Amino acid sequence: MKKVVQLRPSRSGEASSPDADSRRVVLLGATGSIGRSTVEIINGANGAFSVAAVAGGSDAKALAAVAIELGAEFAALADPSGYADLKAALSGTAIEAAAGPEAVIEAALRPADIVVGAIAGAAGVAPTFAALAAGRIIALANKECLVCAGPAFMRQAAASGTRLLPVDSEHNAIFQAMGDAELSSVEMITLTASGGPFRTWSVEAIAAATPEQALAHPNWSMGPKVTIDSAGLMNKGLEVIEAHYLFGIETARLDVLVHAQSVVHGLVAFSDGSVSAGLAAPDMKVPIAHCLSHPRRLVTKARRLDLAAIGQLTFERPDFNRFPALRVALDALRAGRGLPTVLNAANEIAVEAFLKRRISFHEIAKIVEQACEAALSDGVAREPETIDEALAIDFAVRERTRARLPGTAAAS
Ligand code: NDP
Ligand code: MG
Repeated sequence: MKKVVQLRPSRSGEASSPDADSRRVVLLGATGSIGRSTVEIINGANGAFSVAAVAGGSDAKALAAVAIELGAEFAALADPSGYADLKAALSGTAIEAAAGPEAVIEAALRPADIVVGAIAGAAGVAPTFAALAAGRIIALANKECLVCAGPAFMRQAAASGTRLLPVDSEHNAIFQAMGDAELSSVEMITLTASGGPFRTWSVEAIAAATPEQALAHPNWSMGPKVTIDSAGLMNKGLEVIEAHYLFGIETARLDVLVHAQSVVHGLVAFSDGSVSAGLAAPDMKVPIAHCLSHPRRLVTKARRLDLAAIGQLTFERPDFNRFPALRVALDALRAGRGLPTVLNAANEIAVEAFLKRRISFHEIAKIVEQACEAALSDGVAREPETIDEALAIDFAVRERTRARLPGTAAAS
């Protein structure tokens, strides 16, 4: 098993001090929302971390800037056409540059103690899995990894003798609330959902929502894909699937509550009637810091929770009529047979089409549901045993969903 470098506590109890034993980090998705929050944590940790590699998608300048800011040794861009820009932006530094999907895998495999998986979408599956197979501890933000290929990821984590630490705020809260309790003593795990910008909207208003309205999340500032997922509660569906694999718990013991204040992120109800909850201000720096230094605690400047200022916490059942995407995702999890993989792929295509104004908001859930139904009826649906099988299903479903989008020749 990979040796975990323990962060050394300083005598003052302040943030860990600069240390030859600093924890080496690889940051996948360094230019995104989670990536930037991770940079803030690393920069504020007083030398507790050193950065082996950073990786991004297509923004060469932003990736070079973050590599320089962190003093990374290696910077990898997924888009090969950005190589010259990346190289130019890193000239005069000792940072190695590379581009192309294989370069991102190389970044993932650079020797490190922990790899932050913060690439958006299924693009994160292959590099995150490569790091896991190499025995790295993964701080996992990318929920699509588990939705697309949950069984393969969890089997590989066990085989590699390492673990996936959940960055997703709900799962991080549940992970902390669970402590070292036996799974058999857990009666119910509840994930909360803010309800997003359409929490109080009518079915008709939601159906006609524009990308700008869907991107205006009331509590969280996130990348576009997860923000659109949140607006329709598809994100909560993906997160229930993520929790199912991550905690090894069946669907019947997973629940969702809408909680507009985004203060209680997750709850664990035990067989003796006790309930533990994970609370924090809605700031992703909290779970990121928790994972990066686990099992120790960092001192951070993340937002603090002021319950008296918030005054009231409210909880309500999700409305499947106004938010059908949540039902579609839960149905996919219950059906099994690879439907979570199908759901994830179709959803990525549908979200992209919505952001490009090719489909309306309510068509996202419809397109995803149709993809799941088609996969069940034509026999494509089967539980992917390996990462390659999961990615093959992902590819096939993307092609088919794209071909069926309105305005495409095959669409009818
Ligand atoms: P963003 O869209 O803000 O960032 C995505 C990052 O991935 C960018 O750095 C992007 O690079 C990079 N990227 C895209 N494609 C590739 C690729 N093929 N190879 C390498 N890097 C790539 O997303 P978020 O930070 O919001 O989300 C990241 C993940 O974390 C998602 O899975 C999301 O669901 C999850 N998550 C996010 C939360 C949040 O608060 N943001 C909360 C909980 C989970 P470039 O900039 O060049 O495009
Ligand atoms: Mg979440």
